[in-house]
Amino acid sequence: MTRTPTGPEKSAALFARATEVTPGGVNSPVRAFSAVGGTPRFITRAAGCHLTDADGNDYVDLVCSWGPMILGHAHPAVVEAVQKAAEGGLSFGAPTEAEVQLAEEIIDRVDPVQRVRLVNSGTEATMSAIRLARGFTGRTKIIKFAGCYHGHVDALLADAGSGVATLGLPTSPGVTGASAHDTIVLPYNDLDAVASAFAEFGDEIAAVITEAAAGNMGAIAPRDGFNAGLRDLTARHGALLIIDEVMTGFRVSPGGWYGIEGVGADLYTFGKVMSGGLPAAAFGGRADVMARLAPTGPVYQAGTLSGNPVAVAAGLATLRHADVGVYETLDANAARLGELFTDALSAAGVGHRVQKAGNLISVFFTPDPQTQLVDYAGVKATETWRFAPFFHALLDRGVYAPPSAFEAWFVSAALDDDAFARIADALPAAARAAAAATNPGETA
Ligand SMILES: *Cc1c(COP(=O)(O)O)cnc(C)c1O
Repeated sequence: MTRTPTGPEKSAALFARATEVTPGGVNSPVRAFSAVGGTPRFITRAAGCHLTDADGNDYVDLVCSWGPMILGHAHPAVVEAVQKAAEGGLSFGAPTEAEVQLAEEIIDRVDPVQRVRLVNSGTEATMSAIRLARGFTGRTKIIKFAGCYHGHVDALLADAGSGVATLGLPTSPGVTGASAHDTIVLPYNDLDAVASAFAEFGDEIAAVITEAAAGNMGAIAPRDGFNAGLRDLTARHGALLIIDEVMTGFRVSPGGWYGIEGVGADLYTFGKVMSGGLPAAAFGGRADVMARLAPTGPVYQAGTLSGNPVAVAAGLATLRHADVGVYETLDANAARLGELFTDALSAAGVGHRVQKAGNLISVFFTPDPQTQLVDYAGVKATETWRFAPFFHALLDRGVYAPPSAFEAWFVSAALDDDAFARIADALPAAARAAAAATNPGETA
């Protein structure tokens, strides 16, 4: 299959216009292609596993809006549910039955979740969960892990993954010393470090927050026993465990990472898939903890558009269509993608590791492919400079990958044989581009 991509003139013109009105031309940093260079593609429409840009180019989408679109874009059942909801009114600021149904759907899928509060973004979910954990325990300190991203919550930006990692920021200006001071950042997958922190600060720690499986420094699964160890340590010290399933929830299994591993937390955060692609997210967990929230408790949390009927309709339709068959397809698609990576990169002689956390998948360039990457320090030490040429060779051949070496790739159930044929056709050239890349940090 040969393609003659149209130069991104229209995207480039739109990007130039965008930079005149929006910082960096984008509404979320990773979209600016800062780590890979070149012109961000302005998208005009999407259907199934395909994206179309302003110049009329078609791409096989391996980003899926950073996770939500497990059924593919513009899935007819989801679009119909959204249209129907929109016709009935866009927002009421009063409760609806659909919100109850979405909460029930989440509670049915994730056993330890007894109560759910809907919010508008994953950031809001983790921010609210942290406030609730502090309010419930009366303690101030939070443990988070380097390379884990929990949204742009002040207290959680230290050593965060995702765009913070892409831009190489240690943390963010604008976060006060006070909010950073109460955050203890530890290496991911290092239970000894967590035990030491509890030994030193045990009765000051309100909560440990962790990604259920890390996906924002690339896919880094928790070691066997890591999440269970966190469960044990937090319980012993009277702290809460917050498992952030914003990325993994309802993507890696019907019950998210909990459905794979079965480690119960006190609080969970959700977003992405359960939003169906509209702004919706949630946090939930133990009934006694959630009862501390207003209006039953004193911990304040609210939202004008929380539980928005159109967003809830999209999320509910997505979850209702995400049956066991969809999860089997997602897993199979991730496996198929991983094999294509390995085939192409091995043929080109590029040292690499394909890592998975459920059906989240990442490819890391490394001269030491035998060594499993388990934390942010390991990921940062990989040959990330091979990523940009790899990415652009794929983009030029109609494959839309995440524009950062620090992000997971997201498959949808809509990927078909033609899409995989295009990926298979594109990968050898991308692998050769990665092989030919030179380390800009190396002096000749
Ligand atoms: C995406 C993400 C968030 C933030 O969600 P937003 O909706 O972007 O605010 C939080 N936690 C994890 C694990 C995520 O992947």
